[in-house]
Amino acid sequence: MIRYGKSSDSILSLKSSFLENNDVLRERLLAIGRLYAAQPRRERCKICDAGLAREPDFRKHGVGYVFCGRCGHLNGQYEDTEAFCAAVYTEDGGRSYAANYAAPDRAAYRKRVAGIYRPKAEFLSEALTSLGEQPEALAYMDLGAGAGYFVAALRELGLVSSHGHEVSRAQVADAAAMLGADAVRLHELSELAHIAGREQADVASMIGVLEHLRDPRAVLAALRDNTAVRYVFISVPLFSGSVFIETVFPEVMPRHLAGGHTHLFTESSLDWMARELGWSRVAEWWFGTDLVDLYRSILVALRKRGEAEALVERWGEQILPALDQMQLALDQRRLSSEVHMLFRAG
Ligand SMILES: [Zn+2]
Repeated sequence: MIRYGKSSDSILSLKSSFLENNDVLRERLLAIGRLYAAQPRRERCKICDAGLAREPDFRKHGVGYVFCGRCGHLNGQYEDTEAFCAAVYTEDGGRSYAANYAAPDRAAYRKRVAGIYRPKAEFLSEALTSLGEQPEALAYMDLGAGAGYFVAALRELGLVSSHGHEVSRAQVADAAAMLGADAVRLHELSELAHIAGREQADVASMIGVLEHLRDPRAVLAALRDNTAVRYVFISVPLFSGSVFIETVFPEVMPRHLAGGHTHLFTESSLDWMARELGWSRVAEWWFGTDLVDLYRSILVALRKRGEAEALVERWGEQILPALDQMQLALDQRRLSSEVHMLFRAG
């Protein structure tokens, strides 16, 4: 099952803070980038473990990046050390990181589930059905579950044997308030591979998580060795047009390759990963937000240049009616900023 494209309506309505708080959000990401660039040099590829070249292929916002010569993965040139991950994801109970994602109230939480996570859960359920499974009979574990948005979406679909695991105390508290105490369970950063290897679930999911892990290879190997796990569902950011947009608009908040995103997948690095694990690609949904990034970047840049607000408004009129079709042209060529993939283990 292969699907391309998704309406940008929900992302446009949910991400208005990106426009209103551009400078604050940008500075927060650049501060994380400075901390990242102060870590030891990364010697080996995050995905295939091959040695990396010392010279960067390009630099952006003060950080060098290098493509792996073996699998094609784009690696940041520094290690995301334990100290780096702790600073980004768990200090202050993860409150500052959660602020990027946390919903202020129940209505906003529901809106986020409906617009962003419900379509992901429906895709997973349809893909499993097309593979001859009965989705409601399976058990699901969501790793890096955050405030439980994906678990909430699975449960809404009747996939009731679902729960999550999360390292941020603040987000686990948000999940408990919205879904009940046991929906998302708190664990230490170092425990993730252990949980992935031990938990009895048919389907493991990591939605926007793999790219944040210090040792993705260890977590993936644990899932491979967990005989209960038959499917793995991931969503990861890809090297795409958004990287070029961020390079050309350095004054705009870099959503894609900055902050906790210190590396990006490519179709070839995903293939390499699946081959090494002995997994097969069984369902894919290609859609990105490159064009939303372009729209936002030009809008912010126009305002920063002091252009007339009447012109700024006309930019939206010129691009928004065609935005989804333009993005779909990229998605259909697998040039999108993101992909959802379902793998069959073994
Ligand atoms: Zn590699």
